[in-house]
Amino acid sequence: MDRLQQTICALATPPGTGGIAVVRVSGPDAYPMVEKIFVPLHVGRKVAEAKGYTAMLGHYLLHGAEMDECVALFFRAPHSYTGEDVIELSVHGGTAMADGLLEALITAGCAPAGPGEFTRRALENGRMSLTQAEAVMEVIAANGRQGAALAKSALDGRLAKRIGKIQTALQTLNAHLTAWVDYPEEDVPELSDAAFVGTLTEQKAALDALISGYSAGAVLRHGVDCVLLGRPNVGKSTLLNLLAGFDRAIVTPVAGTTRDIVEQAVQLGSVRLNLFDTAGVRDVGEHGDAVEAEGIRRSWKKLEEAGLVLAVFDLAAPLNEEDLEIARRCQGRPALAILNKQDLAGQGEAFTAAQQQLAPYFKAIIPLTARDAASLQPLCQAVAQLLGTANLDPNAAALCSARQLSAAKEARDALAEALNSQEDGFGLDAAGVCISDAQRALARLTGEDATEATIDEVFSTFCVGK
Ligand code: GDP
Repeated sequence: MDRLQQTICALATPPGTGGIAVVRVSGPDAYPMVEKIFVPLHVGRKVAEAKGYTAMLGHYLLHGAEMDECVALFFRAPHSYTGEDVIELSVHGGTAMADGLLEALITAGCAPAGPGEFTRRALENGRMSLTQAEAVMEVIAANGRQGAALAKSALDGRLAKRIGKIQTALQTLNAHLTAWVDYPEEDVPELSDAAFVGTLTEQKAALDALISGYSAGAVLRHGVDCVLLGRPNVGKSTLLNLLAGFDRAIVTPVAGTTRDIVEQAVQLGSVRLNLFDTAGVRDVGEHGDAVEAEGIRRSWKKLEEAGLVLAVFDLAAPLNEEDLEIARRCQGRPALAILNKQDLAGQGEAFTAAQQQLAPYFKAIIPLTARDAASLQPLCQAVAQLLGTANLDPNAAALCSARQLSAAKEARDALAEALNSQEDGFGLDAAGVCISDAQRALARLTGEDATEATIDEVFSTFCVGK
């Protein structure tokens, strides 16, 4: 049987203890199947006759035995999440009653839903686009309110609209080009170079903006792995505790106290940092402590993987070779230099000297006092600036998956090529080929041209019940 002809069911709330559990049923036989297992409280009411957007109280039966009290919420096709007949059944939370309900529904003929199958049906029934389906996943996965707002804007179709505008502009341009190249004898007005270059530049800029907003958006939705780096005793643990708001790491004046990576998630402004306070990086020498050496090796590795590096230096002591080794390793990375213990050193000579030495390796240098809570504010601003979240409008259209990003890049590169070929004096038909490439990439982005394999891949990351 065609899968869409089947009626599916799944638990829509997270498994575990909770007030209520919701089981969702969707498909052509949702009403007759639920009718078999649901007994309305009021005699004379019938599931088959329930109108959309109404609720009914009753209980459900498993193998003929009365089980839990149950509230049924009815949706009629096409006015439902999937576009099919849908019934949402709420029972008491915890897993026992929901499991019993699922068993009853499967006995009545429902098939257990696969991951993301409800959303996939919504896509297949034209209730949402592929970009909106991806946004559903992002809204569920987002941690932090701004990240969720960003994903929600894609769900509302803002991304589809933004891409749609670019598509329309390219379509008009390409239609004009084609007419002009293919029908020279007709009176098609010549496309001026300025208009041609203007349109392409504008659409390329729109794609550039979406592409550059992607990583900042991902930071808002998922947070960023952040490593704290610095030689022993510069104040890494103190900074970690400042960020965490409580004493998470052991702070002692003895060098080499933090032996391994401490993991801690903290909220800094709108960004969630997954913090790794590493073993203090110092040269333990050939006969040094093996455990400490291993800790240091991990610190360097973490530095290469992290989305944000906070390298801490001690302003109260002159920078030494170990500090400079850390600085060199930070070059080209998303790294901030923290000049700590400003309370001891002030903004005098030590500060100027350290700033000059470190400037080539860091995106920004921030003097602060990790012991003082007032230091959080400048740190927060510097991090938002570095990660690009400072200027991101959570209500603007945004790309929200790696798949969308790669299609957008492909379209942008094709437009850049069209502009180059124009500049190099190649004919307009050469530019037309590039514009068609960009159009195809955009159609893949929105899902108009997405292959079954792409759709399968998108849904492979979904959870069951969504
Ligand atoms: P770590 O080894 O890099 O983790 O350094 P700790 O956080 O353990 O700090 C080492 C020493 O420096 C401790 O005695 C801290 O109290 C002190 N310290 C850390 N930050 C500051 C600061 O901003 N000002 C001053 N005066 N001392 C600090």
